[in-house]
Formats: sequence, structure tokens, C-alpha cells
Amino acid sequence: MSRIFRAVILGPPGSGKGTISERIAQSFGLQHLSSGDFLRENIAAKTEAGVLAKTYIEKGLLVPDHVMTRLVLPRLEEITRHSWLLDGFPRTLAQAHALDIACDLDLVISLNVPFETLKERLSHRWIHPASGRVYNKGFNPPRVKGVDDITGEPLIQHEDDKPMALVARLRHYKDVAKPVIDLYKSKGILHTFSDTETDRIWPYISTLFSTKIPMHQADTHYAPSH
Ligand code: AMP
Repeated sequence: MSRIFRAVILGPPGSGKGTISERIAQSFGLQHLSSGDFLRENIAAKTEAGVLAKTYIEKGLLVPDHVMTRLVLPRLEEITRHSWLLDGFPRTLAQAHALDIACDLDLVISLNVPFETLKERLSHRWIHPASGRVYNKGFNPPRVKGVDDITGEPLIQHEDDKPMALVARLRHYKDVAKPVIDLYKSKGILHTFSDTETDRIWPYISTLFSTKIPMHQADTHYAPSH
């Protein structure tokens, strides 16, 4: 690839952001960087940031901005020779400003999935509390029902994945994300994709990336198996 390409993907919980990120990474040779994965690594390694972050994640809260920026930005600085796609960061305007100072983004994708679809998907979410791993009965089920793939320990459903709390959480997400979306819109780098199905959104995203990264290898294109 002739030059480094930096992209961010934004989307509410349940929007299929992780799945689409994997497809982009696979099809266009970008490194997929997930703030949730960074957090889970830190939780597993019991780092200072990980221990602190766990207390927030367990309550369904956002991890404070200063913890997130200290965790994510150094990782980006390490990757100077590879194009990347950042997933899960920034989630707040403060994080977006910190990212802005650290680097120039080429592209921001925003997934706009209807509220009812998100609610339906998230009400099937199960969590392994010790690691923060998240499963979904519909599109990302555990190998064995009710237990974590890696440890075999039982999964739980968060209070905040139950219907009333879900609505509040999605509203909160929207409120926090709006200024971030507006910022990238004003910079002219935002591309929004709206649909209920990941497989219907994907061709549009794929086309966009094809125009931005002409050097990608066509034979590595992701094709859904069904
Ligand atoms: P995810 O895997 O992206 O769903 O992230 C799991 C959890 O980690 C979220 O529910 C948040 O509590 C926390 N988290 C991940 N990324 C961020 C971020 N950029 N800012 C604050 N909290 C975050």
C-alpha cells in the first residue's frame, strides 16, 4: 500500500460494527483496532487501566476519557507503517479531540441502524463478566449455550441489556455520539450508512473503500458465505 490510510468506524451497540470492521480489515488489508479488545486485554493482564476500566464496564458505563486516551493513543503511535481501522474509539467528543491532535483521519464511517433493530439485537446479549467478552444469541452465539468459549464459565445478562435499561443506554449513546458525528461531518470525512441488515450495508461500504484504497488485492474480498 502506497500510503498509510486511517479510518474510524462509529456505531451504536448492536449496529454490527465489529462484524463490518472485520470485513473491512480482511478485504482491504487494514489493521482492525478495537478499543473494546484493548480493554479486554488490559482486564485480562490486570493492568492498572484494566482494573479501573472493569469497574465501569461491569456497570455498563463508559470508561473515563483520560483512561481511554492513555490506552488507545499510544497503540496508534506504534503503528506507523500500516493502515488501520479504529473501532470503538472515539466514543465522546473529548476522545475525538484527543484523536484529532494525534493524527489525521482519512475517513469516518457511521452506521445508522434503527432503534428497534438495536433493541431487538441487544436484548439477546450475554456477557462473560470476568473477561468482558460479549456474545449475542443471534449473530455471535457462544459455542455452547450459556457458557464462555474460552473459560467455560457461565454467561450472564446485564441489567442494562434488559429492555428498560436498554432504551436508556441507546439514548445515552446517541446523545454522546451526536457531537462526534457532527465534528466529522463538519470536516467532510463522514460517510453514513443506514439499514437494518449488515449484509445490505456491506456492499456500499465495500464500494466506498474500493474508491479510497485502489491498491487493495481484489482476491481477498470478503463474500458472505450464505
Ligand atoms: P465494545 O467491545 O466496543 O462494546 O466495548 C465494551 C465496553 O468497553 C463498552 O461498553 C464501554 O464500557 C467500554 N469502552 C470501549 N470503548 C470505549 C471508549 N472509547 N470510551 C469509553 N468506554 C469504552
